[in-house]
Amino acid sequence: MWWTRGRDGLYAKSRHVDVLSDKLLAGHPADREAPTQGDDQREAPSGGERARHASVMLEFRLALRPDRAPRALLLGAHCDDIELGCGGTILELSRRHPDLTVHWIVLSSTPERAREAERSADRFLAALRSKEVVIERFRDGHFPYEGSRVKEYVETLKARLDPDLVFTHYRDDWHQDHRLVGEITWQTFRDHLILEYEIPKYDPDGGSPNVFVHLDEVIAEAKVSHLLEAYASQASRPWFTRDTMLALMRLRGVQARAARYAEGFHARKVVLGGA
Ligand SMILES: [Zn+2]
Repeated sequence: MWWTRGRDGLYAKSRHVDVLSDKLLAGHPADREAPTQGDDQREAPSGGERARHASVMLEFRLALRPDRAPRALLLGAHCDDIELGCGGTILELSRRHPDLTVHWIVLSSTPERAREAERSADRFLAALRSKEVVIERFRDGHFPYEGSRVKEYVETLKARLDPDLVFTHYRDDWHQDHRLVGEITWQTFRDHLILEYEIPKYDPDGGSPNVFVHLDEVIAEAKVSHLLEAYASQASRPWFTRDTMLALMRLRGVQARAARYAEGFHARKVVLGGA
């Protein structure tokens, strides 16, 4: 990664083609300060690199609020959904924004899976000081049939939280619990940027994400190892494997012109700010 100075500060630019990562990760004023260590101090691009990046897709970047640290709300119907859907992005956000506040809300669990989910969240949020992990007990598989209770619960989140970013389930997910959470998110958070994540599973419902976050191999491997180590209860599931997780990230990486991996999201509504 190198750094280049724009009119309003010093911006991060990926060695590879970033589509959303700079939007998500370099929008906060803290990211406009000079880097102090690690990859962020690498050399400016060579002439060859500049030529290769001459046609880089124009990037969006988040206009995060200047008066406070960024806040993200993560909603998952079941234990492991958040990690599978946006675990790499959370790790990357945490790396870039150690002042990020994360509210990690899982809506259903069993006692065993709740313990696993708490351990998993600890791993994914290890770099952050400000975090909240809540594991609820709505009935797995029955969210649409107790939808009013789920909706009222999410309304309480809106009343006490004010996230900048909301990560939630893909609204066209075939799983009834996932789909309901996606729908309720849009019903509840109406002044927020919402990104819907995808879950690899039995249902062929992945759709075509339209927003991507590039992930380097370290982040992608960390996501997979955290999941496999935290969720022993899922080890017997044929799809809960390293190759499934890496395959989806690799495919999204190809689609996002990433060096290797990416996570894909559905953004139904995005506001393009002024230049
Ligand atoms: Zn799920």
